[in-house]
Amino acid sequence: MDRCSFCGRTKREANILVAGLEGHICDHCIEQAYSIMIEELGSRPSSKFETINLLKPPEIKAFLDQYVIGQEKAKKIISVAVYNHYKRLMQKPDKDDVEIEKSNILLVGETGTGKTLLARTIARMLHVPFTIVDATVLTEAGYVGEDVESLLTRLLQNADYDVKAAERGIVFIDEIDKIARKGDNPSITRDVSGEGVQQGLLKLLEGSIVNVPPQGGRKHPEQKMIPVDTTNILFICGGAFEGIEKKIAQRLNTTIVGYRASKDREVIDKDNLLQYIAPQDLRAYGLIPEIIGRLPVLTHLHPLDRKALRAILTEPKNAITKQYIKLFKMDNIDLSFTDEVLDFIVDKAIEFKLGARGLRSICEAIMLDAMFELPSSDNRELTITTDYARHKLEKIDMKVLKAS
Ligand code: ADP
Repeated sequence: MDRCSFCGRTKREANILVAGLEGHICDHCIEQAYSIMIEELGSRPSSKFETINLLKPPEIKAFLDQYVIGQEKAKKIISVAVYNHYKRLMQKPDKDDVEIEKSNILLVGETGTGKTLLARTIARMLHVPFTIVDATVLTEAGYVGEDVESLLTRLLQNADYDVKAAERGIVFIDEIDKIARKGDNPSITRDVSGEGVQQGLLKLLEGSIVNVPPQGGRKHPEQKMIPVDTTNILFICGGAFEGIEKKIAQRLNTTIVGYRASKDREVIDKDNLLQYIAPQDLRAYGLIPEIIGRLPVLTHLHPLDRKALRAILTEPKNAITKQYIKLFKMDNIDLSFTDEVLDFIVDKAIEFKLGARGLRSICEAIMLDAMFELPSSDNRELTITTDYARHKLEKIDMKVLKAS
């Protein structure tokens, strides 16, 4: 019977048994051998992540413009932050002792305004390992949920376990607002998802050597940890910070009491208070000052208006409509959308308060039947009109879209 030549597992006991010239190796041993190799080598000798493609800030912004509609200020701020971050990586130790500090970024904006898209686009441009993680899965060490270190597991995986590459990567931490301290008095019950997690996260943001479980989670207690230095990892955090407008308003109100009041009040745009966000507001919301201090680049994203939503449908390099056209082209089908139907889709997204995220789910609902039927029909052309779209949307429950 075939057995693993290393551990003796039979074919039945192993998931996979790879045959060699004179023996076999099972999946367990492959994994173990691989982690030994990583440990011994520190990193792999050659890597697809070797060169950083460093552009100047206006070039970075121009690249972002191809994918992200609007959000001019955020794009500008990020372009500078990323440029400085990588200049910092390239700096040689010199005599003047001026140390350029890390410029981790905090993006505040409603969901579906492009926070993840911005981070993803930056990573695409730089060819560095990138991962998106969700802060909501984190809990304090020892509690149910993921430890903070596990945030880096996915980064390592995306870097093909090239530790050196991962150490220059970008981690996007989504929903950072969800680990804000809930109340003002955390001592009554253990605040498992609040301050303790923030303390843990601080370690990563500051830059330290963290032991990362290569497979993540606690399902593999036997796994050897991989030490990863986070000093040069760029962290981009995003969050909607729902309700933070109240804190901003409170602050603005208190600062404008006094003799400057009447003058300042006029210029405050009450409908978009997020644009005035400042570190104090994050503190009032429940982030600890140390975390705020480690996210020195703070910027906000605007809610997307009709014009932006319309542009998102057609303009970005990988705009949704372009993707459908490409999909159909692969079956030699010419797909087109009328101008009216694009307006109609935008109207629906606004009507159901779905924002940019909704554009895709609405398009999917409209396109499903065609994607199902056309590849095996003789029809080589399809124009999506408003009537067609309305008819398709009538068949489905819009509540389903809202949930997606
Ligand atoms: P967030 O992270 O802010 O919740 P995402 O970046 O995940 O939002 O956006 C969801 C989707 O909406 C993206 O995949 C993208 O297609 C679209 N989108 C959102 N904002 C923009 C934008 N400013 N420009 C282009 N597309 C956008």
